[in-house]
Amino acid sequence: MSLTREDKHLEEIIVADLMISSEKVAHVQVNNPLEHALLVLIGSGYFAVPVLDESNKLAGSISKTVILDQILGNDGYEVERLSQLKVHEVMDDLVSVSENAPFISGLKAVIDEPFVCAVDNNGYFVGILTRRAILKRLKREYYRR
Ligand code: AMP
Repeated sequence: MSLTREDKHLEEIIVADLMISSEKVAHVQVNNPLEHALLVLIGSGYFAVPVLDESNKLAGSISKTVILDQILGNDGYEVERLSQLKVHEVMDDLVSVSENAPFISGLKAVIDEPFVCAVDNNGYFVGILTRRAILKRLKREYYRR
């Protein structure tokens, strides 16, 4: 009989059990203009989303803060920069973790980040692991013991 992921003990859980899979993750591409990234961020309500390259490999992350920094010039907002700049020119690095990594590796990865990206063995983006998912699983464990 196979265990469902709810039945598994923490020691048996891997990142793939807790991640939000890539089809459900809002993301942008490296060559999108900043205006597109801003629309995705505002539309999704997230402060940051992953950035993927043409082959769907993880390239970085883009946040509302970085975009606002870019359009705030010395003499006010330079809104035209939203169409001039591409995402890859301003994106941040992003921490990634293997989808096969154990729970404790996922937990360590989200101590300093609200979310990290999960990748397969070839570096392709497969989902995100959020701090919320880790905390919810810890809460369940706390009440189970
Ligand atoms: P949460 O813990 O659900 O608040 O998520 C933390 C962060 O993870 C959010 O602020 C987003 O940056 C990112 N995130 C969570 N869910 C998604 C999603 N479905 N698509 C893109 N980014 C997400």
